[in-house]
Amino acid sequence: MSKNVRVRFAPSPTGPLHIGGVRTALFNYLYAKKHNGTFILRIEDTDQTRYVEGAEDYIVNALTWCNIPFDEGPDKNEKFGPYRQSERKHLYKQYADQLIASGNAYYAFDTSEELDYHRADHESKGKTFIYNWHNRLKLSNSLSLTEEAVQEKLKAGDDYVIRFKSPQDETLHLKDIIRGEIKIDTNVLDDKVLFKSDGMPTYHLANIVDDHLMEISHVIRGEEWLPSLALHMQLYTAFGWEAPQFAHLPLILKPTGKGKLSKRDGDKLGFPVFPLEWHPEEGDPAKGYKEEGYFSDAVINFLAFLGWNPGTEQELFNIEALTQAFDLERVNKAGARFDPR
Ligand code: GLU
Repeated sequence: MSKNVRVRFAPSPTGPLHIGGVRTALFNYLYAKKHNGTFILRIEDTDQTRYVEGAEDYIVNALTWCNIPFDEGPDKNEKFGPYRQSERKHLYKQYADQLIASGNAYYAFDTSEELDYHRADHESKGKTFIYNWHNRLKLSNSLSLTEEAVQEKLKAGDDYVIRFKSPQDETLHLKDIIRGEIKIDTNVLDDKVLFKSDGMPTYHLANIVDDHLMEISHVIRGEEWLPSLALHMQLYTAFGWEAPQFAHLPLILKPTGKGKLSKRDGDKLGFPVFPLEWHPEEGDPAKGYKEEGYFSDAVINFLAFLGWNPGTEQELFNIEALTQAFDLERVNKAGARFDPR
């Protein structure tokens, strides 16, 4: 591999870090260390409505307790910083503008009431409303309106969003290290919002711009982000940037194997689903492995086996041994059942 390995763990500080998040961080860490690369922590806090006080500290403390320190991140080795997206706010608009100029994005002025109306109307006919090639010219945007009307709206300070213009009749061939090739018909994709008139980018735009600017070589993240891959790859193409390689880790399932592991499962079955204890503003505290008396080595050892196996009989690994043995090629596609007993 010619490129330096640079991977990132990019949590949103919306609450305590679930062990699924710790596993994502761990696999990024192991991959970086195995390839003499760099492990980066980036805080994705552009959605201020979901921001939870103390969550960023919790993330940092959890990584520290688990013994998987980051090389670059908030307040540490800030070569490509800042590493909090809220401190990078000023950066993103120019990239949205660039996509408008190149014809890959457009302004949309539809109000939420109008969009709600279309959604309800479609639903009543048993259909789903998707904002894309098949109806965008009938909606209120810079593709359907005259240039003058658009300028007037912008000058008047009307609310707008910037949407990606997803192409019609194309097949995308996406690659994932764990899942192989995935084909997507662009006709089923919607024109995702990239930028909002409050001056904030959405997750998609900020994530791609930052991965590019931070020279990320591999994106290793949970399977729940797989549906975003089509848009993300199209954004790299639209910007003319080289895309990183992608690996989507399998979901962590309930002990029964049915459905995603949740905090409630932990409460019900009496085991923590968080590395450290968490005291929410309201409600009961959530248990953590640390306070329950587990060694972090043991937690890391069982997390590594959630979706990965070394291909041998060996079951006990410390972090150094994991670094040696770890390989993304040995990560499974199928969901990993969480059974701490
Ligand atoms: N902010 C996203 C999260 O909360 C990051 C997803 C990604 O790694 O691209 O998991």
